[in-house]
Amino acid sequence: MVTTTSAFDAALSRLTIDLGAIRQNYRRLRKELGGVPCAGVVKADGYGLGADYVATVLYEEGCRTFFVATFDEAVALRQILPDGVIACLNGVLPNTEAAFVEHDITPVINAFDQIERWRTHCARTGRKLPAMLHVDTGMNRLGLDAREVDRVLEGPSVLSGIDWQYLLSHLAAADEPENPMSAAQLKRFNRIRARLPVTMKASLANSSGVFLGPEFHHDLGRPGIALYGGRPSAGRDNPMVCPIRIEGRILQIRTVEPGWTVGYGGSWRASRETRIATVAAGYADGYLRTLSSVGRVAIGGRLCNVVGRVSMDMITVDVTDVSPFVASPGGMVEVLGPAVTPDAMADTAGTIGYELLTSLGSRYVRHYVDSTA
Ligand SMILES: *Cc1c(COP(=O)(O)O)cnc(C)c1O
Repeated sequence: MVTTTSAFDAALSRLTIDLGAIRQNYRRLRKELGGVPCAGVVKADGYGLGADYVATVLYEEGCRTFFVATFDEAVALRQILPDGVIACLNGVLPNTEAAFVEHDITPVINAFDQIERWRTHCARTGRKLPAMLHVDTGMNRLGLDAREVDRVLEGPSVLSGIDWQYLLSHLAAADEPENPMSAAQLKRFNRIRARLPVTMKASLANSSGVFLGPEFHHDLGRPGIALYGGRPSAGRDNPMVCPIRIEGRILQIRTVEPGWTVGYGGSWRASRETRIATVAAGYADGYLRTLSSVGRVAIGGRLCNVVGRVSMDMITVDVTDVSPFVASPGGMVEVLGPAVTPDAMADTAGTIGYELLTSLGSRYVRHYVDSTA
């Protein structure tokens, strides 16, 4: 829910999204790319942060190519983007060709039969319609496989009649800079491109790929997670800015004696007299239950442990070492944000920042700000 400031002030739990941080991240990626243009990947509702808001600021920053996963996402995005390319990563299914044209959506062609489908539609409409060609170089998920690529390389007729925008492939392990897989995929990608019967611009780099060096940049960067503050490279400093802050309100504070337990299953036991703050954010809000007794939140700039199991609507936090003036009923706690980043939380929870962001609950009162405005 997006709402007014007063409802935001009264909310039990709230999510602030700083579009200025997304602008900064886009500029940072552009800088890394040198003069190469930078697309924006806004699938899954802009990784949970709101594709309409994200795409609007990216457009203002000069972004003119956007990637989404599904056709429905593409149509929704077209409502708010006057121009620019919207590419649909999931490909073109039978009998959807006319709808792609109607909404000015560019299909990413992932298989040989999709090339024929799109070529047939071009012939039927008498227009050379835009498309991108996705070849697989090691991910083995989407894209033409090696056998299909060979068929494409057999002759120019296969690709004729289509306005090819980009050749794409997707890196499988770019977030691990030492992993040799990226170099192997780059080699395969460049070889395929050189042998294509038509010339095409190319795009290989996701967020992590942008930071692997200029040989991965080709003609278009294609970052997603880095726009949203995610760490591009494991084990390295994160140059991106965290655009989100989730705060939960302290509903109650109680003192428990040594030996008492807190929460379902009595899984956490106090070893000292402990002040427990009950905070309004639970697994229904995307606060993962695997963070039970291992998660941390920030109160007044201090990190405090989540103790006991995460409930549907609440977590319980040890605030013994925080001043009662700072941790008091009605006060707000930073559950996720610059002090406890999605990557840090994901590492603790055994998942990745991508999953955390796309699992944010719908119960937060959302508030968009722009720190650069
Ligand atoms: C999701 C996706 C991206 C963006 O990846 P990030 O790791 O979020 O930067 C780029 N290309 C394709 C094909 C994707 O599916």
